[in-house]
Amino acid sequence: MDIKERLNILAQQISAALKTEPMVVPDNQFHRFAAPGKSAKNKACYALVNEAATVVHCGNFITGEKYTFFADSDVDDQGQSERADRIAESDEFRANQQRAIAEQARSQLKDARPADPDHPYLVAKNIGAGGLTQWGNNLQVPLQDVDGTIWNLQNISPAGEKRFLKGGRTSGVFAVIGDLKNSDPVYVAEGYATAATFSGGIEKCCIAALSASNLESVCLALRTNLPSHVDICLVADNDHRTPGNPGMTLANAAAKTIAGAVVFPPLPCSNPECNCTDFNDVINCKHYT
Ligand SMILES: [Zn+2]
Repeated sequence: MDIKERLNILAQQISAALKTEPMVVPDNQFHRFAAPGKSAKNKACYALVNEAATVVHCGNFITGEKYTFFADSDVDDQGQSERADRIAESDEFRANQQRAIAEQARSQLKDARPADPDHPYLVAKNIGAGGLTQWGNNLQVPLQDVDGTIWNLQNISPAGEKRFLKGGRTSGVFAVIGDLKNSDPVYVAEGYATAATFSGGIEKCCIAALSASNLESVCLALRTNLPSHVDICLVADNDHRTPGNPGMTLANAAAKTIAGAVVFPPLPCSNPECNCTDFNDVINCKHYT
């Protein structure tokens, strides 16, 4: 079987699975194409074909569907899946996937409408819409690197469930509230609502790393790129109910790495059942005085 025939077989398998006309290019790169029933600019489907055109990884970023197909039947099944795993686990595959998802995030953000200030999550957290956008019922929080390049986004549902685009970059990227280039100090919080609350209260830039485990990568990226006179201060979550207090522990570790300061909400509040953990909880807590 020659490469043309193999590409044909792969294309048929992709279009049967994703119900759309695929793009098959044997170059080990992600190629994006329209999802079924969507306009050509909504490139939510993707395929990556290896150079020999023997295997394709394909899927739909929006629905989360994901498939691996093989063009040749010469190799035994185990050999094929081992080969597919090797590709999917390689750094190159991951980097390619992150770039493809970054493009997806950018086009989704571009097509979205400004966030409704009455979105239930914003109302519940008592924060403004800022520069956020909305896609259907979900708020979209853009994640960027220190150069301002968008890499991913966090979808927040009306009930407050948070989801990144799957397979997208989450390490060392963050959401910015305020003017990162002209703020001193720059604050680094965990969640978006905490950062929005904190930034609004002091009119300084506050970064949201979006997970405690990402605080250190974000702080390192900022420390490397911001002028050395700009102070970086961590705004920790105080997970006083959780063994080991991961919010405070990881914020302290990140602060130590970059020789930065840490602030945290003094908790528990006067409510014996207090479940507050961050500065946003504190401003919304009726037991806090
Ligand atoms: Zn409380």
